[in-house]
Amino acid sequence: MPTITKNKTLKIDGSTGEGGGQIIRTALSLSMLTGTPIEIINIRAGRAKPGLMRQHLVCVQASQAISNATVTGAHLGSTTFSFTPIAIKPGDYTFDIGSAGSTSLVLQTLLPALFFANVDERAKSTVTIKGGTHNPLAPTTDFLTGAFVPALAKLGMQVDIDLQQVGFAPIGGGEVKATITPFLRRANTSPFELTERGELVSIALVASVLNLEYDICKRELASAQASLIESGIDSTLMTTRSNKINGIGEGNTCYAQVTHKVGEPSTHEMQTHKQHHEMFTLLGEKRSSAENMGSRLAGLVKRYLFTTDALVDEYLTDQLLLPLALSGGGEFSARMISGHTETQAWLIEQFLPVEITFNAIDDNKILVKV
Ligand code: ATP
Repeated sequence: MPTITKNKTLKIDGSTGEGGGQIIRTALSLSMLTGTPIEIINIRAGRAKPGLMRQHLVCVQASQAISNATVTGAHLGSTTFSFTPIAIKPGDYTFDIGSAGSTSLVLQTLLPALFFANVDERAKSTVTIKGGTHNPLAPTTDFLTGAFVPALAKLGMQVDIDLQQVGFAPIGGGEVKATITPFLRRANTSPFELTERGELVSIALVASVLNLEYDICKRELASAQASLIESGIDSTLMTTRSNKINGIGEGNTCYAQVTHKVGEPSTHEMQTHKQHHEMFTLLGEKRSSAENMGSRLAGLVKRYLFTTDALVDEYLTDQLLLPLALSGGGEFSARMISGHTETQAWLIEQFLPVEITFNAIDDNKILVKV
């Protein structure tokens, strides 16, 4: 990690750029890692309900617990708070969001700090978080395990995430347990490079129901598969799986994990050992039929396969910037640069001596360099 320790408070305007909860979470991660006290103002100023929601408040409280921070002004609905960390302590922690708020987003706030805490001791940490595991507008646990965790592994960051119990809105009641191994160094000394998309290896289609008709899964998968085959994708690359999951409340989710080989730009030879996984996830909605869900899922996969040669899609792009900045940099090709990604880059540069650039390689992909 780039080492700098600042003692001067960094004032962050939470309404900058995309202006959402991500600014709070990333600022907390970087405050803990660099020892920089922060004061965040105008929190989620442009949102329908501005200020800290339960998920954001638990991010502050959990960060406070793992870094022994002094915090002022953090409560539900507050639009400003200050946070002064002391030292990150590895250990075994449990946090309860107390709503269906996203466990994934709380975990992503804590991971960077726990990767880099007391590396010398090689002490693993565990973090158990209760709340929502499958939320709209946030990574589901499936997205984390199917795309985010394998990408972190390429950076030498090892975390195992167990979905103990699933939790959908509005009830929540889900639980995930993450086991975090301290970061030593990247296993592979060659630079992190995910730029050239190689051949398509597989598309795994998975549908799950919680206390709903099992038939929903079958119909979603049949619809997704038919739509992909119709557009010329080789059916032998596809697998399907249906799940009945346990938990309270009701819910349905389906996802596609798309795996490509990663090319070697210098030789254009495929590195057969190196693969990239992208995840596309949907949550069932009362007004959407299973067939409609399946064809929407196929639509996300087709957009990725047919409109870009990039390896990394929208969400993983913003989520990879911080791990990449902390582990020595690298580059990857992205389908698009979202407001979340631009804001994330701006915020990282407030704390760390890194430069993050976005350059169009051609009209269907952008090179992201950290
Ligand atoms: P707010 O309510 O202020 O918008 P928030 O705390 O819910 O804030 P955002 O700031 O919008 O969250 O950040 C959402 C994060 O979730 C981003 O990192 C984004 O990449 C990720 N995300 C959103 N939708 C998906 C999805 N379908 N799959 C994976 N990740 C997603």
